[in-house]
Amino acid sequence: MNATGETIDLYEVLGVEKDASKAEVKKAYHKAALAHHPDKQPEHLREEAEIKFKAVSSAYEILYDDEKRATYDQFGIEGINNPGMGAGGMDFEDFINMMGGMGMGGMPGMHFHGMPGMPGMGGMGGMRGDGQKPRGRDVVHQYEVTLEDLYKGKTVKFGSSRNVLCSSCKGTGGKEGAKPKDCSNCEGTGSTTSLRQVGRNMVTREEVPCPVCHGNGKIFKEKEKCKKCKGACVKEEKKVLEIYIPRGAKNGEKIVLAGEADEVPGYTTGDIIFVVDEKDHESFARANADLTHAVKITLQEAICGFSRVVLQHLDGRGISIEHKKGTMLKQGQVLKVAGEGMPHKRGENKGDLYLIVDLIWPDEEWLADDNNIAKVKAVLPEGPIPEFESMEHIDEVPFVVTDLDADNEGVPHGASGWEDEDSDDDGEEGGNVQCQQQ
Ligand SMILES: [Zn+2]
Ligand SMILES: [Zn+2]
Repeated sequence: MNATGETIDLYEVLGVEKDASKAEVKKAYHKAALAHHPDKQPEHLREEAEIKFKAVSSAYEILYDDEKRATYDQFGIEGINNPGMGAGGMDFEDFINMMGGMGMGGMPGMHFHGMPGMPGMGGMGGMRGDGQKPRGRDVVHQYEVTLEDLYKGKTVKFGSSRNVLCSSCKGTGGKEGAKPKDCSNCEGTGSTTSLRQVGRNMVTREEVPCPVCHGNGKIFKEKEKCKKCKGACVKEEKKVLEIYIPRGAKNGEKIVLAGEADEVPGYTTGDIIFVVDEKDHESFARANADLTHAVKITLQEAICGFSRVVLQHLDGRGISIEHKKGTMLKQGQVLKVAGEGMPHKRGENKGDLYLIVDLIWPDEEWLADDNNIAKVKAVLPEGPIPEFESMEHIDEVPFVVTDLDADNEGVPHGASGWEDEDSDDDGEEGGNVQCQQQ
């Protein structure tokens, strides 16, 4: 889709004269906005309508503003866009042409690219055009991948069905030797133009293959059409494609199958692009190459030490740690295991693994045994208990165990919190059991 480098005249977009008054601009805008509102269009026209709607809004935004309109009248759209473009003195036209050459495919994948409003730069890898033909559209797929697969790397095969140039007529659509006439829809050029937004206030025309002659510019008489493709120039081809998702690949990363999109006569074939969509893991969380994982440790282990497997890693390995007696592990403490995170894409190194201590406290049955309480009381130290200055008055107050994060009625917002309805959640009656947060 080569952008032509031609920007649309904003007065033309709104359908007003160059000397139109502000009132006329406003009126024209309301009329055009209503006509092109995407919600009022049938599905297949919606994309086009959306672009027109944006164009109309941008035109209004500039022409209704005296200062912007004066700039526009003097310098054109470059005058409006350049101050914020930071394109380093690059001419707007060069910029647009460059974009076009990069294959602004304009496919739904547009929101994955860093520059808002710069649709379809997925074709970046597609600078390898032949320099002559415009580039066909890229096809962008979101591909959901588990963290396990991203850890190990994965090869995926899938069936693809696409249009390829007809082998019999080589994409001309006619019998050998047959003489076609110029297509009346595109006047023989093979392409038609449609509007496209490229940036906040920019609109450009882009060429798309003419739907009537399939981009050839020529049409054959019924009798002279290629028998194999019946004049369509292309045939559907099914094949199996394979992609490799490298280990350590990140969310949003692209895997490009160059030249595997639909073939269109006169166009360099676009790419199929897979965008890695990392699936949430139920126990691991990832931040770039680092991983975090909760480890359940009993109160006894936290105090007395242990040596055992604490988790199963993404490749199925058990990860064992030794915690020697002499220090205590506390709820929420973080243990760093160097080199056990996600693999880096290059080399053998990995990120780090952070284990977050989640203490398992004794259950109610254990707690109900007076013997246990007596034993613990005998060994645990009594102090240090915080001391207070002497107070004249002391109130003994009741309480319930609750959770500030949970949106239950126990949250301290007035008296309703006292209803003891949800106390059966953890059986916390006396409030002497530490609330276990999951
Ligand atoms: Zn054919
Ligand atoms: Zn045509």
